[in-house]
Amino acid sequence: SQIDTLSSEQVTNITRQTNYGTWRIQKTWKPMHVVDAEGCYFIDGAGKRYLDFSAQLMCVNLGHKNPKVVESIAQQARELPYMAPGYATTSRALLSQKLLEVLPPGLEKFFFATSGTEANEAAFKIARMVTGKTKIISRYRSYHGSTTSSISSTGDPRRWAMEPSGKGIGHIFAPETNCYKCPIKHTYPECGVACADYIEHMIANETDVAAIIVEPVVGTNGVLVPPPEYMPKLKAICEKYGVLFIADEVMTGWGRTGKWFCVDHWGVEPDILVTAKGITSAYVPLGLCATSKKIADFFEDNYFAHGHTYEAHPMTLGPAVATIEEMQRLNLVERAASLAPYVEEKLKALKAKHKSIGDVRGLGLFWGVELVKNRETKEPFNTMRDKVEGKPLVVDQIAAKMMGMGVAQQAWISHFVIAPPLIVTKEEIDFGINALDESLAIADALVE
Ligand code: PLP
Repeated sequence: SQIDTLSSEQVTNITRQTNYGTWRIQKTWKPMHVVDAEGCYFIDGAGKRYLDFSAQLMCVNLGHKNPKVVESIAQQARELPYMAPGYATTSRALLSQKLLEVLPPGLEKFFFATSGTEANEAAFKIARMVTGKTKIISRYRSYHGSTTSSISSTGDPRRWAMEPSGKGIGHIFAPETNCYKCPIKHTYPECGVACADYIEHMIANETDVAAIIVEPVVGTNGVLVPPPEYMPKLKAICEKYGVLFIADEVMTGWGRTGKWFCVDHWGVEPDILVTAKGITSAYVPLGLCATSKKIADFFEDNYFAHGHTYEAHPMTLGPAVATIEEMQRLNLVERAASLAPYVEEKLKALKAKHKSIGDVRGLGLFWGVELVKNRETKEPFNTMRDKVEGKPLVVDQIAAKMMGMGVAQQAWISHFVIAPPLIVTKEEIDFGINALDESLAIADALVE
């Protein structure tokens, strides 16, 4: 084993000095040395165990070190570690068959990349090639990835630092759907989902719109669950104007929301579905851009101008088959759905107890807890600007306290994203939520 070759301090220091810590001012980074991970836990260099309450980046859906997936990686390496994308491989065919089984109906042709952002880049290029149009509509509270088009479509402040010099062309923004804090100051249900009407107004008043991209439930930016009629209405608007509908299911796919894919909650069939993360439980890097028959037909006679050396990489495809088989064997989609009421009840009780909680919301094993300084005004403790300026955030202080208690919890600006591996038990959910409960005193003390 390599694990004992360096001390934890050496590992942290070498990493800190020689690598970039992403999405941060560098001097604030002190990465923890992790030596092992299994199931819902990971272990640091001192032997301390942490409950992985957000499945790392909401991606280790099977939990760590699932033996079948680990073995599939070894088997793929032994059998055929690499072939160029122009060749057909058995794992490629097997995964494609599995995808036809689990993806929403109507998605028939696949492009395999190695990340969510690359899969979104493929989606944008495809949408532009097929429609001959340029503009992509996305929403302000969103994250679509870090490469040029994906970050240009990202509404959240991760776009800001590169925007003056590097924003791609044709990316325009709509207000998000957020019934807790509506950006256009409407109230649901009286509004009749005016946020969708707003997008129709945009499309009608713009020329050259190729596609709209949405996270069906907004992930990092707050676990924003839309009202049931929003997504079907948006799809109908897209059909009316010939705009392609791209569902970014990088985070919401693979059982996270209690369905295989989040759009399945509303029976919406996207023209393009993008996913990554849970497709391999994040053990190996795979992204997928899945397209409709209509799009596939277009390219029968038109040049498909896209590709990568690592496209359809066998080392990613065999493990994806094993991941889907494990999800099916362990009934993890049903499990996420059946645990949702338990989590919801616990979080609602937490809200009743802590005046710093403004809202709790979610689906399946995907929950947001939003903190506010004042429940009446809904003013947050911190803003997006505080985040990019590297100011200490209240949510980060709470997450640090939870870490001390052995619970790793994702925090973002003024909310938490609770998204444990789908194998989580009720006892583990209790442990995680209790740590949040005890740590929220930090925010309660600051309520105005
Ligand atoms: N889209 C969504 C909704 C995401 O949550 C993410 C990552 O968090 C991405 C795209 C980008 O995926 P990746 O980090 O694999 O490039």
